[in-house]
Amino acid sequence: MSYEDMIPKSIKESLEKITLIPTYGERGAGRLVYNLLKLPLEKRLEILKALQEAVEKIRNCAECGIYTEEEICPICSNPRRSKKFICVVEEPQDAFAIERLERYTGVYHVLGGRIAPLEGISPSNLNINSLLERIEKYGVKEVILATNPNVEGEATAIYLAKLIKKQFPSVKITRISHGLQFGSLIEFADELSLEKSIENRKSL
Ligand SMILES: [Zn+2]
Repeated sequence: MSYEDMIPKSIKESLEKITLIPTYGERGAGRLVYNLLKLPLEKRLEILKALQEAVEKIRNCAECGIYTEEEICPICSNPRRSKKFICVVEEPQDAFAIERLERYTGVYHVLGGRIAPLEGISPSNLNINSLLERIEKYGVKEVILATNPNVEGEATAIYLAKLIKKQFPSVKITRISHGLQFGSLIEFADELSLEKSIENRKSL
């Protein structure tokens, strides 16, 4: 019996499937599967059930792109949130990090990534046209560019600022400030730094 044959088929298949998730290599998949299997059966099933619900129910808001179980997310459908202010983020979880501060009263726009030529991600792969449409449709006053404070996030912000300025010269464009450490991720930023970086945003 070879080493390969010793690994149960269901484990092998699970490992293989998990590596389909971006950023999950063999090691990440192994850590997830083997640690999951260490839990009591009841806990394992609870985790699976939660995941299954998320996988089945979650979609991107038809308006802003953040994760929601509805057609339109609770932020976009809240009449108290101003559509004159759009905060542009890379991923839905970035918007959730900003929501945790309970300060921002505008809406969001999820790009679905950042411009990363080395990974073959160009502006055409991001939700940029729908951003321009929303700016026009709602007569937006300010676009806050809250892409991550790293090389690609900065490049994406500069690209968007130029594009928006050209089409909508009267729209104020701001960039979150360096209250956040360069190279950090909004998703994992501590609340105080994130709040400061939004408060001290700079006009572009
Ligand atoms: Zn929405």
